[in-house]
Amino acid sequence: MTVTSAIAKETLSNLEKKSIAATPNAYAKEFCISAKKINLSTKECRKFEEIILKLSKNEQIIVKEKSLTTFEDIIPILLKRVNQDNIENMATLINDSLQPSISINLNENLHKFSVKIGNSPELIFESDIQKEIKKFIEQRITLDKSELDKKAKEIAKVMTFMTKYLADAIDSNSHGSSSISDIAKDIESLDASNHQDLVNMKGKLVDAAKSIEDAMEKTTNKLKNGQSQVQSLQSKVVQLEKELENSKKESDIDHLTGLLTRRAYDRHSKKIEELYKRNNIDYSLVFFDIDHFKKVNDDYGHDAGDVILATFAKVLLKSTRDLDIVGRYGGEEFIAILHFNDSNEIKSYIKRVKSIVTSHKFKYKELKIPITFSAGVTIRSENRSYDDTIQIADKLLYQAKHTGRNKIIFQDGDEL
Ligand code: GH3
Ligand code: MG
Ligand code: MG
Repeated sequence: MTVTSAIAKETLSNLEKKSIAATPNAYAKEFCISAKKINLSTKECRKFEEIILKLSKNEQIIVKEKSLTTFEDIIPILLKRVNQDNIENMATLINDSLQPSISINLNENLHKFSVKIGNSPELIFESDIQKEIKKFIEQRITLDKSELDKKAKEIAKVMTFMTKYLADAIDSNSHGSSSISDIAKDIESLDASNHQDLVNMKGKLVDAAKSIEDAMEKTTNKLKNGQSQVQSLQSKVVQLEKELENSKKESDIDHLTGLLTRRAYDRHSKKIEELYKRNNIDYSLVFFDIDHFKKVNDDYGHDAGDVILATFAKVLLKSTRDLDIVGRYGGEEFIAILHFNDSNEIKSYIKRVKSIVTSHKFKYKELKIPITFSAGVTIRSENRSYDDTIQIADKLLYQAKHTGRNKIIFQDGDEL
C-alpha cells in the first residue's frame, strides 16, 4: 500500500469516528490533517497554505479564527473581496487626495508611499497602510493650513502697502509721485517666491501703482500748466485794472481844459462838504462864466474859442492850491472851491485872476483876443447848506451878468 493509500484509509476511518460524511470537502480537509501528522506534504495541501499566505492579513485572521482548511471554506471570504479594477481606482483616488492642494512642497516620503500604493493597490486594505494614509492626510491638512496662513499674511502685507499708497496718492501734492514710486518699490520687494498666484497679484499691483503714478505725474503737469496760465491771466487782470484806473482818472479830467469834469467836481465837492461838517473846515465857492463867449466863437472861430477856454482854465489852475479844486461846470462855465483862513484871501485870489485875464489879451495864432468874465462868490459858513451855497453863487453870477458883466459879486455885497 502506498503512503497516499494509507493516509486515505486513515482519513476515511477518522471521518467515520467523527461521524462526518465523507463529502469531497470533508475528505480533503481530513486528508491534509492526516498527512500533516506524518509530515507528508502533498501538493494540494501545500497549495492551500500558499493561497492563505496570499490573503490579506484580515482574511488570514478570519481563516485562523474559523479554522478554515479547504478551498471551499475560503470561497465566502474571497467573494467579499472588492473587484481589482475598483481597488486600483480607489488607490489612485487615495493617492491624489494625499497631495497637498495649496502647498506645492511635496514630501519625499509621501512620494515613495504613492509609488508603493500605485504598484500594489490592494495594500490600501492593510491596517498599517491605512494608518500611514491617515498620517499623510493629517500632514497634508497641516501643510495646506500653514500655506494658506502664509499667503493670507502676504496678502495682508500687500493690502497694507496699497492702503498706504492710496492714502499718499489722495494727499499727494507735486511730491506725491516720488513717494508713490517708493511704495511701488516696497511692493516689488515683497517675498512672494514660490506662490505663482501671489506673484501674479503682486505684478498687477505694481502695474496699477505705476499707472497711477503716471496719471498723477500728468495731473501735476496739467496743474503746473494751469497755474502758469492762471498767473499770466492774473497779470493781465492787474494790467487791465491799471488801465481801467487810468481811464477813470482820464474821465475825471476834462480833455480840453485839464480841469476836473463836472462828475469829478461833484465827487470832490462832497468830500469837502463832509470835512466842513465834521471838522468845520470852511470854504468859498466861485462860479465863473466867460462873457459873450458866443461872440468870441463867432468872431474868431471855434478853434480860437477852444484855445481861450484852455488858457482861461490854466489861469484858474495856476492860481489854485493843492487843497482847492477847479472844475469845468459847463461849456464856458467854471467852478472853484477854495479854502481860506481869512475871507479876504478869497477876494485877493479873485482879484489876481481878474487881473491876469483882463490885463493879458488871449493869443490865438496872430490874434490877440480881449476876454472878460463874471463870477458869483459865496462862503459856505454863511449858508445853511452846500446847495444853498452853490445856488446863491449862481444867482450872484446871474446878477453880475445882468448888471454889466466883467463883474464879480460876493455874497457880502462887495463887487469887483
Ligand atoms: P454871456 O456873457 O451871457 O455868458 O454870454 P455867452 O455868449 O458867453 O453865453 P451863452 O450861454 O449864450 O453862450 C455860450 C457859448 O459857449 C455857446 C457855445 O458855442 C460856446 N461853447 C460852449 N462850449 C464850448 C467849447 O467847448 N468850445 C468852444 N469853442 N465854444 C464853446
Ligand atoms: Mg454861460
Ligand atoms: Mg458866458
